[in-house]
Amino acid sequence: MIIVMRPGVSEKEIQEMVKRVEEKGLKTVLLRGTNRNVIAAIGDKREIPHEYWEAFPGVERCVPILAPYKLASREVKPEPSVIKICGAGLGGRKIGVIAGPCTVESRQQIIEIAQAVKQAGAMALRGGAFKPRTSPYSFQGLLEEGLEFLAEAREATGLGVVSEVVSAEHVGLVGKYVDCFQIGTRNMTNFLLLTAVGQTRKPVLLKRGMSATMEEFLLAGEYILSQGNPNVILCERGIRTFEEHTRFTLSLSVVPALKELTHLPVIVDPSHATGRRSLIAPMSKAAVACGADGLIIEVHPEPDRAMVDGQQTLDLNAFAQLMKDLGPVAQAVGREL
Ligand code: PEP
Ligand code: MN
Repeated sequence: MIIVMRPGVSEKEIQEMVKRVEEKGLKTVLLRGTNRNVIAAIGDKREIPHEYWEAFPGVERCVPILAPYKLASREVKPEPSVIKICGAGLGGRKIGVIAGPCTVESRQQIIEIAQAVKQAGAMALRGGAFKPRTSPYSFQGLLEEGLEFLAEAREATGLGVVSEVVSAEHVGLVGKYVDCFQIGTRNMTNFLLLTAVGQTRKPVLLKRGMSATMEEFLLAGEYILSQGNPNVILCERGIRTFEEHTRFTLSLSVVPALKELTHLPVIVDPSHATGRRSLIAPMSKAAVACGADGLIIEVHPEPDRAMVDGQQTLDLNAFAQLMKDLGPVAQAVGREL
């Protein structure tokens, strides 16, 4: 349930209420809004009637949350959350595009790409350093050295950096370098990892598990939120179906469906979803048209020489052109780029 505090209540009253809720054996998460503060009380205490809570001074009302995901739900927070990566927001009127190579390959490569995508209007730089590969014999990434190069690219451009963390034990190490953790599709149900990033306050770009339902996806986000980290970005990246003409099947209808249910920003990864360079631009436009708050796109100066995922990677010119072409699409749906 959520306990909505009256506008203008003092910090002392809020803390007093948090204490009372916790005394009843419930876990609390305080959600600070512009007009009202809300205390989410988590746990199974349905025997306590809502009148009990509403009798306390400072409490406006107490509402049960029916959705299994509580903190992610629009019932708790009707207005959209804007999540900032190095000062650039995702989830507001402006569409944010995160771009960069699948994998950090060298200092020079990542700095060149960072400068180009920044010039084209990207809001953050992506690049894998710890790569979860299907085969143990494939290149696994530059590991910490890759993170160092990403940090240098941030220094050079001011772009925030997004990189994947593959296990709970690496959260401290990766967190020293990145501005936003990425949790990959193969780790969406790694609950220890979700809990570990939830204990930080850094933004987390959470990719949908390739076989996860929308509800399971929201509950994975809830794991992070329930640890007190409100900075969760949901990313649709394609699901497994019988279809073989694309690498995965981009489930675009989940974008507006998620936006109905959650206040969290929702972005789309057309690169991994389709696995086909020629489909990146059209599906990016479609994603923006159906309400995505942003995109994450793989970009490389020479896609055919990229160490990983070249077949789904745009070159620098194609990316710059796409950024130009997305402007009118964004405008048509009341957004801007
Ligand atoms: C990635 O974005 O680098 C990646 C591995 O994506 P996914 O987890 O969606 O496959
Ligand atoms: Mn990739």
